[in-house]
Amino acid sequence: MVVAPTSGNNVWCAAAGGHLTTHQVITALKTSGVAERVRHRRAILPQLAATDVVGRDVMRRCRWRVRFGPVHAEDLPQYLADDRRKTDRMRRARFGVRERLEMAASWAVPSGLVLGVLALALKPSWMLPLLGLCASLAVSVFLFYDRIPGPRRLLFGGSALAVALPVVLIAGGGGGALLAAAGACVLLTGVLTFDYTGSTPIEGSSHFEERRWRITLDLDRCRGVYSCWEVCPEACFEKREDVRKIDLAHDDRCVLCGACIVQCPKDAL
Ligand code: SF4
Ligand code: SF4
Repeated sequence: MVVAPTSGNNVWCAAAGGHLTTHQVITALKTSGVAERVRHRRAILPQLAATDVVGRDVMRRCRWRVRFGPVHAEDLPQYLADDRRKTDRMRRARFGVRERLEMAASWAVPSGLVLGVLALALKPSWMLPLLGLCASLAVSVFLFYDRIPGPRRLLFGGSALAVALPVVLIAGGGGGALLAAAGACVLLTGVLTFDYTGSTPIEGSSHFEERRWRITLDLDRCRGVYSCWEVCPEACFEKREDVRKIDLAHDDRCVLCGACIVQCPKDAL
């Protein structure tokens, strides 16, 4: 295994933000000494690196043949066992219930600790309600954020306020308690929803927010190389059965990662 530096970013954001590039992959391959340790020149890269690592440039500049493997590392054993064939499931970015709950816990525990210590120091009776707010917000953001249309941050923040403030009033809290509850709701919603988008490739990276284009396909140029189909994390493409060309069948799922544009050798996208 060769590790290329990504400035501490995950593959999705690193490739989108210029921290995992063709140059870095070539440098890692050339400086790691891996060429002296194996008898082949085939590198398997994480699929989500395809937004900025150009396989044919790696080949041209250091004679390593690059293939984009599965999105998730846990699928590598099956991918290798199946002679480097990706199933539809391996090509798609996933964010299952287990991963969602892991992320919720990884936020709820440290934020709960900070809020708990603050409450203990200032007003111990606020500790349990604050911990409850923290846990319920973390779980609901990570379970439902992508399933809610419209201004999602506002909706989550508003719902948290709509639940927390009446509870404080019913419990007999005064102005200070109301202010603390409102502050905790706004702060927690902001932090959790910001981190949510960076936690999963089912959302576009924040690096894509400036992008103002949409994908179109020039069928005359398409030669059916299927690199776009290999690298799209949202399965927007389908192979045509009648002719060796691609169909941009699900452009509504596109998250503007740009991987298909970068990888298409015929400039058909
Ligand atoms: S659009 Fe480009 S990458 Fe996709 S099948 Fe056609 S030629 Fe290949
Ligand atoms: S169709 Fe959209 S989501 Fe799929 S690879 Fe192209 S830019 Fe990315």
